[in-house]
Amino acid sequence: MKAHDGMYIGGRWRPAAGPDTIAVVNPADEQVIAHVPAGTAEDVDAAVRAARAAFPGWAATAPAERAAGIARLRDVLVARADEIAETVTAELGAPLAMSQTVHAGVPVLVAGSYAELAASYSFEEKIGTSTVLLEPVGVVGAITPWNYPLHQVVAKVAPALAAGCTVVLKPAEDTPLTAQLFAEAVDEAGLPAGVFNLVTGLGPVAGQALAAHEDVDLVSFTGSTAVGRQIGATAGAAVKRVALELGGKSANVILPSADLAKAVKVGIANVMSNSGQTCSAWTRMLVHKDQYEEAVALAAAAVAKYVPGERVGPLVSAKQQQRVRGYIEKGVAEGARLVAGGPAAPLERGYYVSPTVFADVTPEMTIAQEEIFGPVVSMIEYADEDDALRIANGTVYGLAGAVWAGDEAEAVAFARRMDTGQVDINGGRFNPLAPFGGYKQSGVGRELGPHGLSEYLQTKSLQF
Ligand code: NAD
Repeated sequence: MKAHDGMYIGGRWRPAAGPDTIAVVNPADEQVIAHVPAGTAEDVDAAVRAARAAFPGWAATAPAERAAGIARLRDVLVARADEIAETVTAELGAPLAMSQTVHAGVPVLVAGSYAELAASYSFEEKIGTSTVLLEPVGVVGAITPWNYPLHQVVAKVAPALAAGCTVVLKPAEDTPLTAQLFAEAVDEAGLPAGVFNLVTGLGPVAGQALAAHEDVDLVSFTGSTAVGRQIGATAGAAVKRVALELGGKSANVILPSADLAKAVKVGIANVMSNSGQTCSAWTRMLVHKDQYEEAVALAAAAVAKYVPGERVGPLVSAKQQQRVRGYIEKGVAEGARLVAGGPAAPLERGYYVSPTVFADVTPEMTIAQEEIFGPVVSMIEYADEDDALRIANGTVYGLAGAVWAGDEAEAVAFARRMDTGQVDINGGRFNPLAPFGGYKQSGVGRELGPHGLSEYLQTKSLQF
C-alpha cells in the first residue's frame, strides 16, 4: 500500500530523524503491507516547534475562517472516502462495508459538526460585570489508538483546530496509514503550515516524547487505562492540561418490561461490531433471573450470524488476538458457561477470534471486570433492579451503557442511577454532538460536540 517515508511537519513531508521503521500488517492475512517511519524525540520536537510557530497566527484567525478550513477538510474526507475505507480495512481488518459506513463515514459527520460549531460558537461571554474570553489552550499533543483509526484522530484534531489550537498527532503504530491519509487531507484542504503535524512512531518512544514535551500545552490521549494513568501523571507533574479517554466495561441492562428479543439482538450486534474493539461496547449483558435462559438462547441464535471472515473481521494484531483468547480461557477456567465461540481460532490465517458468548458469569469474574476488547459478551443474571444497578456500577469503569425497558421513563430512571458517561435508551441513536467520555477510571474530559470543543479552550475574564 501507499505509504509516506517521512513525517508531515510544518506543511510538508520531511525525512524522519532516524532510520527505524514500523511494519504495517494486514490482520486478515498477516501480510506486511507497508512501512512507516518510527519517530523519535527529535521528530516530535520538530513537530512541536512547527505547531508552536503556527499557533499565534491560527489562534488569531477569525472563527469563520477556521470553520471554512475545517469544512474544506471535511469535503476532502468525503472525496477520498473510498481510499480511506480501503486503507482502514487493510490495516485494521474491518469488513469493507463497516469501513465505508463507520470508519470513513463518522469522521465526516464529526468534522462537519466542528465546521458548524467553529462558526456558531460563542468565544466570548458576559458574566455580570466581566467579559469572559474563551481562548485556545495552545499546542495540543494528540495520541490516538487503532480501533477507530480516523474517528479518533478527527475527534481530537477537528475541535482543537476549531478552538484555534495547533496539533501534533502521534497515531497508533498499528494504523498509521489512515493517519497519513488524514495528513494528506489536511494538506489538500489548504490549512496553514504547522497547524497540523504528524509523527508516526511507537508509544513508549514518540508518544512518550510528545506527552512529556515541555512546549505542549495539552495532551489529549485515547487508549488504555494503563498508559492513560502514566500520561496523566506526566501531565500532572508539569501542571499541564490533559484529557483521557480510556477503557470501558459497559453494562447492557435489560429490565423485565423490555422487548427481550430486540434488546439481546442489538446487544450482541453492539459488541460484534468492529470485532468487539470498541471502548464503549456493552460487553456485560444483565438479564433478570426469570428471563435469563430465554435470553441465553436468543444470544446464541443472534451470535451465530456473525461469521468470522464475513460479518466479523479479525482483531488488529496477533498480540490482541492472544490477549482476547487468554480472556476466553480465563472465563472457562473461572467457571463461566460457553454458549458460543471459545478460545480456538476460527480461521487458519488472520488474527480472528470466534464470536463468544458466556453465560453463568458472576459479577466478580475476570471476564466481567476487565476490558477484553474483543468479540466476547458476558451474560450476568440479576435478582431485582437494585441488584442490576449494583452489578452495572460494580467495575472501575464508567464509559457507556444501555438500558432497555417497556417504558422510556422507566429506562431513564435507571440510567440516572448509573455511574457512566453515556447511556443508550432502548437502543439509542448515534449523535455526533453528544459528549462522550468516562466516569471513574474511564477517563477525564469529554469529546465531541460543544463539550469536546471546550476541552481545547481556556478562560480569561476581563473585569469592568
Ligand atoms: P494503548 O494505550 O496501548 O495505545 C494508545 C496510544 O498510546 C497509541 O498511539 C500508543 O502508541 C500510545 N502509547 C502507548 N504507550 C505510550 C506511552 N508510554 N506514552 C505515550 N503514548 C503511548 O491502547 P491501544 O492498545 O492502542 O488501544 C486499546 C485501548 O484503548 C483499550 O483499552 C480501549 O478501551 C482504549 N480505548 C478507549 C477509547 C475511549 O474513547 N475511551 C477509545 C478507543 C480505545
